[in-house]
Amino acid sequence: MYVILLGAPGSGKGTQAKQLVEKYGIPQISTGDILRKALKDGTELGKEAKKFMDAGELVTDALILGIIEERLKVDDCKNGAIFDGFPRTIQQADGMESMLKKTGANIAFCVSLEVPDENIITRLTARRLCSKCGQDYNTVSNPPPADGLCTKCGGEIIQRSDDQEATIRNRLEVYHRQTSPLQDYYSGRGLLRIVDGDGSPQEIFEKLCRLFDDYNKKS
Ligand code: AMP
Repeated sequence: MYVILLGAPGSGKGTQAKQLVEKYGIPQISTGDILRKALKDGTELGKEAKKFMDAGELVTDALILGIIEERLKVDDCKNGAIFDGFPRTIQQADGMESMLKKTGANIAFCVSLEVPDENIITRLTARRLCSKCGQDYNTVSNPPPADGLCTKCGGEIIQRSDDQEATIRNRLEVYHRQTSPLQDYYSGRGLLRIVDGDGSPQEIFEKLCRLFDDYNKKS
């Protein structure tokens, strides 16, 4: 079961993907997380991606498709995966389709999490995360403890460098220009499912579970 979570940065894809992984036992593939790890580890990939990420621009399709090709070879992906933040361009979607075809797999569906831009800006400027385990915090709805250390693992809680307002606005502009055309792409294939992403994480999770369960019943 290969599912795509589409949606603007900050629409809740990562939060939902983590819960879906626990419930359905298929891995989350977040190209953003993979790139941030490469950056932290100081690899060539990280160095190459850094300038794009800092500016809120997209990393090249060739680089991203290389990452996905490698990731899909890992055994845990053989029964499916939840793609979070990938694909982000039509070229990436085409590349992924041909990769999956080679193994006889298909996309089950693509969920578009819809959240108005102004709410995204409010959410992302308040977003914080643990630099060690990735646990999410939010200065408004889920404030980090006063000592600034993660309640789960004790790691340092930080703000992502691309969660500054000017970069967020650019990431949103990039999303509307380069990624949102994927809605028509997947709608044309009968695979698009629209979900209002403006409720509580639990409400949204329940809507997503319904889509997963319906798909599992039919297949
Ligand atoms: P994210 O955590 O998904 O918001 O990604 C953070 C940044 O990583 C983006 O602003 C891009 O610079 C880069 N990135 C992540 N995924 C992709 C992708 N599929 N295609 C191109 N760039 C990406």
